Amino acid sequence: MNSESSANIRRNLAGDTLPSRLLIVEDDGSLAAGLARALGLEGHSVEHLDSGERALARVAETTFDLIVLDIGLPGIDGFEVLRRLRLAGHAMPVLVLTARDAVGDRVHGLDLGADDYMTKPFALPELAARVRALIRRGQADAGPRTSHGPLELDRAGRRAYLAGAPLELAAREWAVLQILLEKVEKVVSKESFIESLTNWEEDLSSNAIEVYISRLRAKLEPSGIRIRTVRGFGYMLEEFRERGA
Ligand code: CA
Repeated sequence: MNSESSANIRRNLAGDTLPSRLLIVEDDGSLAAGLARALGLEGHSVEHLDSGERALARVAETTFDLIVLDIGLPGIDGFEVLRRLRLAGHAMPVLVLTARDAVGDRVHGLDLGADDYMTKPFALPELAARVRALIRRGQADAGPRTSHGPLELDRAGRRAYLAGAPLELAAREWAVLQILLEKVEKVVSKESFIESLTNWEEDLSSNAIEVYISRLRAKLEPSGIRIRTVRGFGYMLEEFRERGA
């Protein structure tokens, strides 16, 4: 990892936006590679797909915090992808890319539930800034707190509390815990943790995931919050039950 990207990640972690999972849907390979690189430098985990059909299939199986969606795609176009996403109840922010400068296209995109749009060609720093703004908004909209028994996560403020007392969490412990909290009672594979955290550091291994899990356990188990190991596969945050209940 070069020093420029380390600096960017530090800024991101210390700043007001959490590293997020982004999906780029763009059939122009060199544009997509540039986008992925620019957004990766911001500390985000970035996936790229080159068709609307593949994007819809992927969104059905995993969660993204934001989608950058090209309108001119082979097969179903970006408008149709957006329409189907919203129809299926997916509420993540979508930033539309269009080569067409017609006002009608923009209005159509916004009517279908796009959160922002950019007309090609555009400057990467401007796109990165708009992505940051949309993610911030999305995180603020996600509601101030997620709770699990005595544990409370303030996602926008990046703070955790255990029975009302502030809980110290390293950045990656926080990220691992957030993933577990989204899937209470569901097994999360080591691979999917690595996939979610992959842009943070290039040498992230499944041993590292074990270390974060064991640190989280040390902090959470005294309060009755249990992370179960599913041997050979991954981990699961158990549903919280009051002791003796
Ligand atoms: Ca295109």
